Amino acid sequence: MNIAAKNISVAAEAAAILEKLGVDKALYTQGDMPSYSPVTGEKIGSLKTVSAAEAAERIEKAHAAYRAWRLVPAPKRGELVRLLGEELRTAKDDLGRLVSIEAGKIRSEGLGEVQEMIDICDFAVGLSRQLYGLTIATERPGHRMMETWHPLGVVGIISAFNFPVAVWSWNAALALICGDSIVWKPSEKTPLTALASQAILDRALARFGDAPEGLSQLLIGDRAIGEVLVDHPKVPLVSATGSTRMGRDVGPRLAKRFARAILELGGNNAGIVCPSADLDMALRAIAFGAMGTAGQRCTTLRRLFVHRNVYDQLVPRLKKAYQSVSVGDPLQSSALVGPLIDKAAFDGMQKAIAEAKSHGGTVTGGERVDVGHADGFYVKPALVEMSKQAGPVFEETFAPILYVMPYDDFDAVLEDHNAVAAGLSSSIFTRDMQESERFLAADGSDCGIANVNIGTSGAEIGGAFGGEKETGGGRESGSDAWRAYMRRATNTVNYSKALPLAQGVSFDIE
Ligand code: NAD
Repeated sequence: MNIAAKNISVAAEAAAILEKLGVDKALYTQGDMPSYSPVTGEKIGSLKTVSAAEAAERIEKAHAAYRAWRLVPAPKRGELVRLLGEELRTAKDDLGRLVSIEAGKIRSEGLGEVQEMIDICDFAVGLSRQLYGLTIATERPGHRMMETWHPLGVVGIISAFNFPVAVWSWNAALALICGDSIVWKPSEKTPLTALASQAILDRALARFGDAPEGLSQLLIGDRAIGEVLVDHPKVPLVSATGSTRMGRDVGPRLAKRFARAILELGGNNAGIVCPSADLDMALRAIAFGAMGTAGQRCTTLRRLFVHRNVYDQLVPRLKKAYQSVSVGDPLQSSALVGPLIDKAAFDGMQKAIAEAKSHGGTVTGGERVDVGHADGFYVKPALVEMSKQAGPVFEETFAPILYVMPYDDFDAVLEDHNAVAAGLSSSIFTRDMQESERFLAADGSDCGIANVNIGTSGAEIGGAFGGEKETGGGRESGSDAWRAYMRRATNTVNYSKALPLAQGVSFDIE
């Protein structure tokens, strides 16, 4: 069957993909939690949710699995993740299509999300042979001091709707090679892609053969189920991706029981276009960063500062791009901008635009677009010219709104750039080395991601991903982010015949 056939409903297409990927039909047809496609507004599933007691049971199972998994050598654990990467390669088209159906991403972005999953698997496989610690000079003769990295336990994963599967894989691939088990609470807006991902991992587990049962658990439910994960004493680390509001609740709850937190929260990302910038390059990067994924990336470009000398060369071209960008059904067209996730997102966007107008903003776009689906929320991305930052510019509105402001002075624009609560991603467009280096320096961008001559969005998995301030401070994915998924033991071994105490302390007993 051609699953992508044009004349079947979105719900039927989702069901066909789930069936092909081996997901038990009862899980998404016989439950009480509805799931909708933002593409048409159609109901595409009735999910079976877990109760708090069942969630706790699954966490216990994952804990038991961890106790066995931690003893499997790391390179062998890497073999499971290698198989997961293989299964994802096979399932890429189907899972990518399901991401488009359930999250509304355009085709290439749905596929791109699965590619990101494959990439992190490849990264984690290599890493499974590189989980190393230091040996450290000791002050005592006949002693050796070193660090050992051990598996941590059950890793709780809470994910947002806008990266429904990639965020899970960033955490899952690292946790699995680190010797941890995983329990995932996906967004209640995107549960079908979670069922599909779990089925794909189950296939890898079956091929692997002797992994402990219960190594990966899925908790379908709303935030109350997320709270069970956050509060459970057998979950030493929770990696939670979502709004700053969510992080404000989750962070203190984890701190209260001394659990670790990787918080990946909201962004209010900015770009600076300097007088020497390559404006063609800047234009393309800004267009993708601000309008791509319908403005629903944590790294979406939301604020743009343009030097007054190039403002009239760049901004009219940008406005033209906003007026001409194609908005449409991501399953049936090659449109560059798909739907917003739901009505609440649309209402939030309209509210922010109205507030921006009340602060003197001039708006291009922002209106609803009729693509033939009465229950889908499609909008023209909005470009709002402001004289300075005010009102909604300081907030993350999870929709395609770009606030554009002129600037004159580089020091002042750096201050404005950093004057928001979030600190995720940032970029500068310049050919002036002093400006680019300053942007990356200690008194430059205060974000976890700072780019030169590329946009704010579309990070690669090889780098550590995350942001500062109200973005939460967590780091996931590449570089040494793996360390958060393991516990460190400092070992001192005495191979001498004496017992010298550190710092020259003497404690001689008779
Ligand atoms: P959301 O905060 O509404 O929900 C995210 C997840 O948290 C969901 O699974 C939800 O059920 C769960 N949740 C909410 N409250 C909870 C609580 N009190 N305890 C436990 N779990 C709880 O976010 P969303 O609307 O799905 O996603 C959009 C937001 O996510 C944006 O703010 C975006 O910037 C952010 N985001 C950040 C990153 C990042 O890496 N920094 C990546 C993607 C999305």
